[in-house]
Formats: sequence, C-alpha cells, structure tokens
Amino acid sequence: MLVRRDRRLKKSSRWTRQADGSILLRIPERFPKNQIGKLLNGVAEQLQKQALMAERRTDMDLQLRAEQINKKYFQGKISWTAIRWVDNMESRLGSCTHGGATDGHIRISRRLQGMPDWVLDYVIAHELVHRLHANHSKEFWNTLRAGYPLTDQARGFIMGIGFKEGVHYEEEGAEE
Ligand SMILES: [Zn+2]
Repeated sequence: MLVRRDRRLKKSSRWTRQADGSILLRIPERFPKNQIGKLLNGVAEQLQKQALMAERRTDMDLQLRAEQINKKYFQGKISWTAIRWVDNMESRLGSCTHGGATDGHIRISRRLQGMPDWVLDYVIAHELVHRLHANHSKEFWNTLRAGYPLTDQARGFIMGIGFKEGVHYEEEGAEE
C-alpha cells in the first residue's frame, strides 16, 4: 500500500486501486502522522471484506463450491454443464435444467449471498442431486439427505427466512 499526502483533500482520505492492483491511499495534507497506522488498518480491513464478498459473488466461486460439494458429499459422481448466480428468481433459490439444449444448467439466486454458507451449500447440493433425480421423488430426498448432512436444518432455516420476509421459498422441481 502506498501512502501519499494530497493537497486537494480537506478532511477525508481516499484509497484507490491502481492498474497493477496495488492500493494508493491519499491522505489530507495535514493528516496527523500518528494516526496513519490506524487508518491503514481500517483500509486493510475494508479491503479484506471486499475481497471476501467478491469471492463469494463470482460464478467461478460457485463452480468451485459445487465441485467441492460434489467431491465431499457425492463421491464426485455428479456432472453439470454450468452453474451461475442469477438475480431474476422471485421465490426460488435454485434451479436446474433437465434435458434439451440447455441440459445441466444450474442457477443459484443471489438472495443466498446473504445467508450462511451451509445454507448456500444445501441449495447447491439440492440442485446437484436434481442431476440424478429430476423430481422430488423419495429417491431424490434419500440421496440428498444421505449426501448433505445439514439438509433438514437448511430447509428449516429457509422456511424461517421465508416466514420473516413474507416469501414462501419454493422447493422447485427441475425445469424441462
Ligand atoms: Zn428441487
């Protein structure tokens, strides 16, 4: 991180990310020297938070999570075409296409970004298992429960969130 005094700044300091990825922190001309350390810590904290959020937000992260879940809970036997975040699902948290030209496309609602990891993982596991069983058959639930250990807790959590938000989150069927 590079710190530079900037005459144009009156009170507040500003930080920007430069083209090479490094951080330039500009501080007001008269910013007290003994407070720079504290300021740097604050910026570092913000950067870390941003990085964590960004990591959770990318489709690549979702793909990696799905791969880990597949390996850890389903012996790596599930395959899919693509998995990505979407904003346009109202009451569904996930969906998975089955058959046709877009077979195996999993979509995960961004609403899950505000929920705990183990709930997000449940929805990913749920959609993955739809690759084996298209409908919510007994076999579907058996496979999901045997694989992902927090299935029932996560379903309860989602019901509770839905109650609080006044939304009934659907347990969707796979799309044709
Ligand atoms: Zn389902």
